[in-house]
Amino acid sequence: MFCSSHSHLCNCGELRICPAASNRFFTFALIITAWICPVALATSVQEGPIAAGDVTPTSIISEKLSFYNERFPRIQFVHAKGGEQWHEDYTTVLTLLGREATSLDYEHPKEFRQDLVDANLHRIKVMLVNDLASASLFRVGQGSTVDRENLCVITLNPDAVVPNDAEATRYIANLPDELAGKIHPTRFLNNQQHLRFAIDHEAFHCLDSLYNGGAPMTDRPLGGEYNQFLREGAADSFAAAIHLRAHERKTDYLQNMMHLRAIWMFSDGPNRCTFESIRETTGADLSELRSMTLSELIDYSTQVGKSMGGSYEYFVQQRAAALAAASEFGFEVQIYDNAWKHLEDITPKEELVDYRIKWYRYFLGTLFNDQKISFDMPRAPE
Ligand SMILES: [Zn+2]
Repeated sequence: MFCSSHSHLCNCGELRICPAASNRFFTFALIITAWICPVALATSVQEGPIAAGDVTPTSIISEKLSFYNERFPRIQFVHAKGGEQWHEDYTTVLTLLGREATSLDYEHPKEFRQDLVDANLHRIKVMLVNDLASASLFRVGQGSTVDRENLCVITLNPDAVVPNDAEATRYIANLPDELAGKIHPTRFLNNQQHLRFAIDHEAFHCLDSLYNGGAPMTDRPLGGEYNQFLREGAADSFAAAIHLRAHERKTDYLQNMMHLRAIWMFSDGPNRCTFESIRETTGADLSELRSMTLSELIDYSTQVGKSMGGSYEYFVQQRAAALAAASEFGFEVQIYDNAWKHLEDITPKEELVDYRIKWYRYFLGTLFNDQKISFDMPRAPE
């Protein structure tokens, strides 16, 4: 039933149900984090950074899970660390789900309920074994030990993803090792801030599925990719907004995160090239961001993802432009898998190709030095 899975250095893995199984296909993007943490529902938590001193990855994850568990009583947020203990974590997830659970991340006909749950469970296993961050939302089934309606499983192994600033940066940069090793230290992500950002990003995926619905079914050739791009942009916008509310200013972290996202255009996960959503959020009025309720913030981030993504037709043009830019740089077009093949027959607008060439040169060129960069560079043509 499973066609393929892509997990290499992606922030969120993907699975596809074979088109043969249906006229439609679904693209899955889930997020899950570390060990199952039966956390701390009663703990009082704040949105801001916790005091330095005793901060550990465990305390950050607990703090974040408590934050979401307190504010969203319809969802139980849990974290699965994976790594060597992946099997134990996976078994716990199965227990928490109970029988006849429903996956809520993708709109689907009733007859595909079990197939989709199986696909998501397989994906969770892949994420746990490979230390990848992901999130999955389920409506729990019979016999579940969860006393809430829904379960959000976040996978994220902090030992692999954020052991220190340099490694956190290399992990997200998604570049060949020889290039990743040359990233200038001024571009490094603060690993604690990055862990918080990553959990906010993943938690948003579950909130998005619950409040906006799962990714819609589509029969357009790149419909699954398009939906994922909008949802990834929204998740990064949300995480950036939470970060800005906590820090009350633009930070080096956010600038560096935007910078690193900008060079994902030619990676194996181009739908995570969401720097424009981070930039848009960073340009928002901070007092307005701070005055929003979490529900308003979810709506705001969803809108940012949609407005930065544009229409489906625009998305296809943008991707065709990225392929044309790749060939200008002499990159192998195989960096985009078969789903993108039909783009080769599309001639993109020249200004869109130029924009991509300019942006990639700018962001890649400044990754290896401490040149001051601007949040404003470069801008998409109208
Ligand atoms: Zn994501």
